[in-house]
Amino acid sequence: MLTDSFGRKINYLRLAVIDRCNLRCTYCMPENGLAWIPGGELMTTTEMLRLCRLFTEMGVDKVRITGGEPFMRRDLLPLLENISRLPGLRELTLTTNGLLTEPFIPQMKTLGVRSVNISLDTLDEERFSGITRRTGLHKVLATIHTLLAHRINVKINCVVMDGQNTEDILPLVRLAKKLPVDVRFIEEMPFNGTDEPVSLKWDFPHILEHIRNHFPDIEKIPDPAYSTSFNYRIPGFTGNIGIIAAHTRSFCGSCNRLRLTPAGILRTCLYEASGKNLKAELRAGRSDAELKEIIFRAVRGKPKDGWEAEKKSSGTVHESMATIGG
Ligand code: SAM
Ligand code: SF4
Repeated sequence: MLTDSFGRKINYLRLAVIDRCNLRCTYCMPENGLAWIPGGELMTTTEMLRLCRLFTEMGVDKVRITGGEPFMRRDLLPLLENISRLPGLRELTLTTNGLLTEPFIPQMKTLGVRSVNISLDTLDEERFSGITRRTGLHKVLATIHTLLAHRINVKINCVVMDGQNTEDILPLVRLAKKLPVDVRFIEEMPFNGTDEPVSLKWDFPHILEHIRNHFPDIEKIPDPAYSTSFNYRIPGFTGNIGIIAAHTRSFCGSCNRLRLTPAGILRTCLYEASGKNLKAELRAGRSDAELKEIIFRAVRGKPKDGWEAEKKSSGTVHESMATIGG
């Protein structure tokens, strides 16, 4: 069992399989993209699978595949298939922008994927193009419908940005009435690959107040263990509403997460500037036992919270979420 020095049980790995993306969301990366990780520096499927096996042997029972856009990786399905077979794995999930996802849904269902997070910040075609700097809203919506048709749970993640998509909050809330989807609003974080500051005007209380003004009977429901969102229901709605105070970091106390970047760096906290290079250790020929010891020690050094991590890293990390693994 992996436990950090604050007694938190660490059982959740977010595996970013690639940094590249077919969108250019303004809150995630610059218009021209990022300085992409060179092909040889990305972990191979074999390397990712070996590390996933070690993590599951050490008590990780939930793996989320993320990126960048996971479906930009051509070998994604074989990787998913192999991860899904790891003994000890209880839950395999993905976070995707939904553009390339739809054709793979039947296979994902066969592999036991029960839940998928879709990033969708607007239901308006024009604002979709403004935010993502690309087109394809209809494809994202088709993916959501096909996932639901295959009885795969859908959570929609919307990053709330002052002056960009606050008019989308209510239409997205209403989506949880029309469809059995949970809709979560995320505070914008400074992880956009630039030094540009982000506005925290739309923080958790502001988002909640805005929703409550229009849906006064919204009520708090219990948050599942390790939940990053504060959860609510609106009577008559099929899906729930969540708000993720990602920037104000109210969920650090119960953090059970690790991140493995596409370059194989183990990050024990989103707000930490560096991490342990597991790929380098693996390529140096370490045995399973040695790698487990390295992981064990890294987890012991997991910071108490994002504030402590930031202090240790002497300032805010501005790296894109696509290279950290959002
Ligand atoms: N490309 C996939 C997608 O968009 O779903 C997976 C990777 S993306 C980096 C994962 C999540 O990070 C998305 O839900 C996205 O909204 C979120 N994200 C990216 N940059 C963010 C930021 N600056 N603040 C808050 N959330 C962010
Ligand atoms: Fe791509 Fe996801 Fe980042 Fe948008 S949030 S640019 S879809 S990695």
